[in-house]
Amino acid sequence: MHTPPRVLTVAGSDSGGGAGIQADLKTMLALGTHGMSVVTAVTAQNSLGVQGAWELPAEAVRAQFRSVVDDIGVQAVKTGMLSSAELVETVAELLAELRVPVVIDPVGVSKHGDALLAATALDAVRGALLPTATVATPNLDEVAQLTGIRVGEEADMRRAAAAILDFGPRWALIKGGHLAAGHRSGDSSVDLLTDGTEEHWLRAPRHDNRHTHGTGCTLASALAAQLAKGDTVPQAAAAAKDYVTGALAAGFRLGAGIGPVDHGW
Ligand code: PLP
Repeated sequence: MHTPPRVLTVAGSDSGGGAGIQADLKTMLALGTHGMSVVTAVTAQNSLGVQGAWELPAEAVRAQFRSVVDDIGVQAVKTGMLSSAELVETVAELLAELRVPVVIDPVGVSKHGDALLAATALDAVRGALLPTATVATPNLDEVAQLTGIRVGEEADMRRAAAAILDFGPRWALIKGGHLAAGHRSGDSSVDLLTDGTEEHWLRAPRHDNRHTHGTGCTLASALAAQLAKGDTVPQAAAAAKDYVTGALAAGFRLGAGIGPVDHGW
C-alpha cells in the first residue's frame, strides 16, 4: 500500500480559501503529498481583505502538533501566519524537536495591508523561529520588517539574504516579486536562493494578473512538499517556483477584490 510523504502546515485559516492553511493543503495535494495542519489563528477573510482574526491558545497549537507528530509523523513542515510572540515562541520550541526540513514563511502583512503578525513578535521571529529554518522565504516587505534593509533593485537582494542568514536559517529564499518595474531585469519575477556559499537566481516570466492571493503560502508549501519527497533545497526551490508561476498564471476572479491563485492548472 502506498503512503504519500506527509507535510505539515502550521498557519492561519483563510475563510475565503485562497491563502493560509487552505492554500497550503491544496498545494500539498497537488504535489502528491499528504497535507496536515496545525491551525494557529482563524481569519474572517475574503477577496477584499481580512475582516477579523482570532488567535488560538498556545495549548491548542501544542495539542494539534502532538496529535500529528506522535502518531502520523511528518517529513517536512512549513509555517505561515503565527499571529503573536507567544505563538511564535511556542512553534519554535515545537519545531526544535523535529529532524526534518522546515520552511519558515515569516508572514507579516497581507497584500491588503492587514497585520497577520503582531509587531511585538518580530524579536521572537528573529531570535527563536528563524534559527529553526532549513529555508526562510521572506518577501521584500518582510525583509524590510526583519532587517531594516529596503531592497530597491536586484543587486540589493544579496545583502538582504546575508542579513536574513545572520538570524540562523540554513538557506534564505528572497522573493523579489515586489520589486518595482524598472528595477528588475526584463519582465521577470526573480528570487534569490542562497546558503551564503551557493547562489541560485530563480527567474520566471511575470504574469500581469491581479489575482495573486495566496502566492507566498503556495510557494512555501510547494517547497516543503518537494523537500518531503526528497529534493535538495535548490531542486525544491526550482520546482516550487514553477508551481507557483503556473498557479499565478491561472489565478482567477473571485468576489469583488483580489482572487486566488489556482491549484488546478
Ligand atoms: N491570510 C492568511 C491566513 C495567511 O497566512 C496569509 C499569508 O500568509 C494571507 C492571508 C495573505 O495572503 P496574500 O498576502 O497572498 O493575500
